[in-house]
Amino acid sequence: MNAQDLLSVAQEHGSPVYVYDAEAIVSQYERLTSAFAKAKNLRIHYAVKALSNISILKLFKQLGAGLDTVSSQEVQLGLAAGVDPSKIIYTPNGVSLEEIEKVAGMGVQINIDNLSILEQFGAKHPTVPVCVRINPHVMAGGNANISVGHIDSKFGISIHQIPHLLRIVENTGMTVNGVHMHTGSDILDIGVFLYATEILFETAAKFKDLEFIDFGSGFKVPYKEGDVSTDIEELGDQLSDRFNEFCKSYGKDIALAFEPGKFLVSQAGHFLAKVNVIKQTTSTVFAGVDSGFNHLIRPMLYGSYHGIKNISNPDGKNRFYSVVGYICETDTFAQNRQISEIAEGDILAFSNAGAYCYSMASNYNSRYRPAEVLWHNGKSHLIRERETMDDILRNQVDVELEIGAEAVEA
Ligand SMILES: *Cc1c(COP(=O)(O)O)cnc(C)c1O
Repeated sequence: MNAQDLLSVAQEHGSPVYVYDAEAIVSQYERLTSAFAKAKNLRIHYAVKALSNISILKLFKQLGAGLDTVSSQEVQLGLAAGVDPSKIIYTPNGVSLEEIEKVAGMGVQINIDNLSILEQFGAKHPTVPVCVRINPHVMAGGNANISVGHIDSKFGISIHQIPHLLRIVENTGMTVNGVHMHTGSDILDIGVFLYATEILFETAAKFKDLEFIDFGSGFKVPYKEGDVSTDIEELGDQLSDRFNEFCKSYGKDIALAFEPGKFLVSQAGHFLAKVNVIKQTTSTVFAGVDSGFNHLIRPMLYGSYHGIKNISNPDGKNRFYSVVGYICETDTFAQNRQISEIAEGDILAFSNAGAYCYSMASNYNSRYRPAEVLWHNGKSHLIRERETMDDILRNQVDVELEIGAEAVEA
């Protein structure tokens, strides 16, 4: 999408608004599947939590993807989008046995990440095959250092507990049909990631009934020019070979699974906000937009970087701005950023706004959450309406207490 396309969306649907470029999603999906072309049986489960609009889920369904879900509600969304339950994997953390049983009842692949629930689930439902989430305790840092840290992570079953895990499987007679890891860290060094996969292969060899190995995600995307990102092609090439080798020694062609969120949708998303006010102070020029961390929390939550372009004046003189929101709290999107000269009323486009942006939006300050638009073949499709006052009041129960005269006087 170019600046003109984005501007047309803001003109048609108002601001603030999220726009997702369908072609960009498709091309990332195809990039991933081509990278792993050598794997005979590849399963891509799109991580719903990154961007959970039903029309996006339907797009992934059309591409042939499955879904990775972390709550029973995400599972229900996936089913509502028409995704077959057999193509949905449910990887919760810290949820109740009841919720896991409910999701298992929908025919979804269960992935269990602790021994307590595994034992309880296996004892009650020995015929339901489950995947187990393993924590290999490998941490990919900013360089090639391998730290076998993360021992205190709340995710996954520690590799040091595999003997106990195997005993539970044997005692309950349950079937483990998949092993999984998701370290959660950005993969900068493929070598570190491959090291973690070796630990997973070693673990996998201990289970006889595997249908798949799920390597999670952690693919890093670039946020600005010159940013390091995961070399998917190289990773795909090396891991596919290694995986095929594993299948040979395992004696069965099982599936190679991944569950990316960010990689598939981050760059496809743009967030458009209008500049309400330009405010000069003694030290900086603020551009205040009609949004805030209620709509895009990542800069305040993780210090994440989002490129910002003035699409109303793309060819102006570059000047330095601090772009801030309208929330009554420090609400900074970007500091000291060079942006083409901004006038009040201009539309700013934030990049990398596809993943963990709308899905983390809230009604803080009682503001409406923005509209969402899917752009396809040069046309915009509204996929979520902007909220209204009815949405703010929905579920609120209007109770008026009788405050006695004494209380008022006191
Ligand atoms: C969040 C999550 C993902 C997706 O991670 P990205 O960094 O967005 O690719 C995959 N798997 C699990 C289990 C997750 O919790």
